[in-house]
Amino acid sequence: MKFNFVESDEHKMIRETVEQIADDYEDEYWQEVEQGAEPTEFWNDCADAGFLGTAIDEEYGGEGMGLEEFAMVTEEFSANGCLGVEMLFVVNVVFGAVTLQANGSEEQKEEYIPGIVDGDLNWAMALTEPNAGHNAPEMETIAEEDDGEYVINGSKQWISGVEKADKMLLAARTTPVEEASKRTMGVTLFLVDPQDSNIERRELDVGIPTPEKQFELSIDNYVAQEEDIVGTKGMGIYHLFDTLNPERLIGSSGAIGIGRCALDRAIDYANNREVFDGPIGQYQGLQHPIAEAYSELHGSRELVRKAARMQDEDYDPREVAEVSNMAKLRASEAGHEACDVALQTHGGNGFSREYAVIEMWKGTRLAKTAPGSSEMMKNFIAEHTLDMPRSY
Ligand SMILES: Cc1cc2nc3c(=O)[nH]c(=O)nc-3n(C[C@H](O)[C@H](O)[C@H](O)COP(=O)(O)OP(=O)(O)OC[C@H]3O[C@@H](n4cnc5c(N)ncnc54)[C@H](O)[C@@H]3O)c2cc1C
Repeated sequence: MKFNFVESDEHKMIRETVEQIADDYEDEYWQEVEQGAEPTEFWNDCADAGFLGTAIDEEYGGEGMGLEEFAMVTEEFSANGCLGVEMLFVVNVVFGAVTLQANGSEEQKEEYIPGIVDGDLNWAMALTEPNAGHNAPEMETIAEEDDGEYVINGSKQWISGVEKADKMLLAARTTPVEEASKRTMGVTLFLVDPQDSNIERRELDVGIPTPEKQFELSIDNYVAQEEDIVGTKGMGIYHLFDTLNPERLIGSSGAIGIGRCALDRAIDYANNREVFDGPIGQYQGLQHPIAEAYSELHGSRELVRKAARMQDEDYDPREVAEVSNMAKLRASEAGHEACDVALQTHGGNGFSREYAVIEMWKGTRLAKTAPGSSEMMKNFIAEHTLDMPRSY
């Protein structure tokens, strides 16, 4: 299915390299990954091609390109059937290398980024809490300063990839919300060892295909040092813009790519399946939803790339968030709608794992809820972009 109408020579080269790698990994490979197999060969191929460092500066072992190219890589892998690749990229590369590049100390950058880019280090990020959810400033995990050390207690929920992570970015309050000058102040980001015995984990029983497992964490007197702080103490929520905007855009790129992949398969199926006279693809009842979903994917992608360029060109993080939230809203809805149309086109066969469309449908449904739900994207647009009263 034709999708890339305008692309530079550099982008064409990236796309072709992605296609070559993706070609080696069939649906069965991704089905095994979602059942718990490690995608080690795929990850090594990505590292060898430089894709884990697409948006990372050359001095830390990256390719020195931007988030726009990283978004492109993610979309193309997804469009070529590498299901769940956006979660692998978000958890390890965005939560790790991209976050440290934006806000880490020089020592943290040198110590960790090259290992992530080489595919040797795995990462995780613990923000969400059972009692805070989207209301992150109300987090209850607290880091109390004690003689230059920080003793951390609390709980986190829905944290991906903890069991194999070498390091985890953890958000905790260093000033209780009641004592902070603003509710968005007083949160600090720490680099912690997720395998420490003071961090207990319990795997969640998750009903959708993901290449990373999810966990609930109990943190009981974990001790962090001053040098484990990422960025400035108390400014964690503001630093998180540099993590959550890229997270949204890489997630969105995955949703668009999966939507493309599903539509591609739907067109192929519709043009070959005959039920009455001729292929089912000749019916406008099937053609129009496919054409609509296709054009929605195009529009969403433009927004995603625009937000990524704004991030690359160092626009004000608040403005990047405004466009990123619009992009995330449109991309997750368009990606899932494309999968829904593809599922309908496949009739009963859509529900067979053989065609993988049902996996795509479930995977893109997640994008409407996490990271950041469609409702919260709309809340942000209304309040911050359109100057309407806060509704909650
Ligand atoms: C597979 C998976 C992997 C994840 N991985 C990670 C991870 O690695 N690290 C991490 O920190 N988190 C992770 N998360 C958590 C994810 O980011 C949150 O689940 C998501 O942000 C939603 O938070 P919540 O589940 O607490 O929902 P809630 O905040 O409880 O929201 C529930 C519902 O209420 C709606 N709602 C809430 N407030 C409002 C409002 N003011 N206006 C309108 N509607 C509202 C929401 O839109 C949503 O539909 C993961 C989640 C999943 C499902």
